[in-house]
Amino acid sequence: MKRLLLITALFFFLTLYPAQSEPVIFFDQLKPVDLELQEQIKKIKSLDSNLENIIDNLRLKVKNDNSNNNLKIDLASFLLKKVYLQRELPYENNEELLLEAYDLIQDNFFLETIWGDIYFHIDEFERAIEHYETALICNPNGVNTAGLCGWAYFKNQNYEKALEKFDIYLNKNFDDYLILFFAGKCSFQLEDYEKTVEYCEKALEFCKDNDDIEDIEDLIRKAKEHLASTEGFTKDEDSHFVLSFAGASKDDLGDLTSESLEDIYDEVTNFLNFDPDVKINVIFYLTDDYYKRAENWSAAQACGITIEVPLKYGYKDEVYVKGLLAHEFTHTIINLKTKGFNAPTWVHEGLAQYLEYSISFGSPEIIRSDYEKILQKDFIEEELFIPLNKVSTYMNSSERRDIKRAYIASYIAIRCMSDNYGEQSFDKLLTSIGKGNDIERAVKDATGISYDKFQNEIKDWVKNQ
Ligand SMILES: [Zn+2]
Repeated sequence: MKRLLLITALFFFLTLYPAQSEPVIFFDQLKPVDLELQEQIKKIKSLDSNLENIIDNLRLKVKNDNSNNNLKIDLASFLLKKVYLQRELPYENNEELLLEAYDLIQDNFFLETIWGDIYFHIDEFERAIEHYETALICNPNGVNTAGLCGWAYFKNQNYEKALEKFDIYLNKNFDDYLILFFAGKCSFQLEDYEKTVEYCEKALEFCKDNDDIEDIEDLIRKAKEHLASTEGFTKDEDSHFVLSFAGASKDDLGDLTSESLEDIYDEVTNFLNFDPDVKINVIFYLTDDYYKRAENWSAAQACGITIEVPLKYGYKDEVYVKGLLAHEFTHTIINLKTKGFNAPTWVHEGLAQYLEYSISFGSPEIIRSDYEKILQKDFIEEELFIPLNKVSTYMNSSERRDIKRAYIASYIAIRCMSDNYGEQSFDKLLTSIGKGNDIERAVKDATGISYDKFQNEIKDWVKNQ
């Protein structure tokens, strides 16, 4: 199979938000019923014997008067206060207290909100969402909780749900520019560029921070560019994808793309054991428009939940398009599965190629002919080895051969992992990265051996080829 052109497929991660713009969590707290206790709980500022005494006292009272619901609320409010004060401790330290409070006051808005906050605090966004959603069933007017729930959805890249929650929050907090900005970011991801501009222009009305103003204006500019460049696009939507085609390209590419994408969807999501709960955007641009937008020379790019392809490459033969889309779709699934924790370049590009080759050539062992030659000459004959943490440096080289070497080094690492530890190791690898672990730990979770040892195994694997 003759490969036509170098796929330097780039992927960009969205800067989720600037560090100073973290949401404020833990601001809705349960109050005791007893007036005196209400005063006492306000004064408690640290974990001390006073707090413990009150809790022990209330436990005793509840034990003796088990049908008194007010007493239960009093005890629960102090248990939750303790959880709040020791929120920096590992989750396990708080779980028992939360469960004890749950036994006292099921279906309580404040309990579920703080439970969500605790999970949010340790980046367990899916769990946080479960608790926030329960809180919102208990109290649909809990707009702060709705805002936090939106943040958690945003972190999980579920922009549709995030926007839904942000809208609830904004009903009562119409001047919160940060949430307006994030509602704009969600709309951008959902390709609703008019809405993006609307939210962002509102955000500008209330924003005083110069850095944030710059970011908001930047997003408005990008949305307006999209509006201009996707004007006249034909759209097509199915259960997994939203497709946009420039000009008349849907006539040429529409059916082929839909069919290919369904195969790719099944293969990649099964392979990586991850089903996204959002639709992925695929946009075919006129070639000139694409290169006006793309930040670099590339045959396509995956950015957040959007895959952008210039038509010049989209018009190549069927096998080529399928490989290209498989490659980019793999990047998208890796992004979603790792929940905003960036997987290293070698993991991204290695897996993207592995699936590209599996899907376009029928086997991950058959690679592009130009890569095959370099693999043979540089890696096997001359024993070139690129340490995995150097892959991204090679990827940014001005030498085209270095860039190809970086892709090959990534591919080799993934092939080696597959041969030695089975394809199921990739699920473990990405799951570990998605928990916020560094690559050393993630490789250990996937293979059982250290990162260094794994890199030595790659050298041995190449020698045996
Ligand atoms: Zn790529």
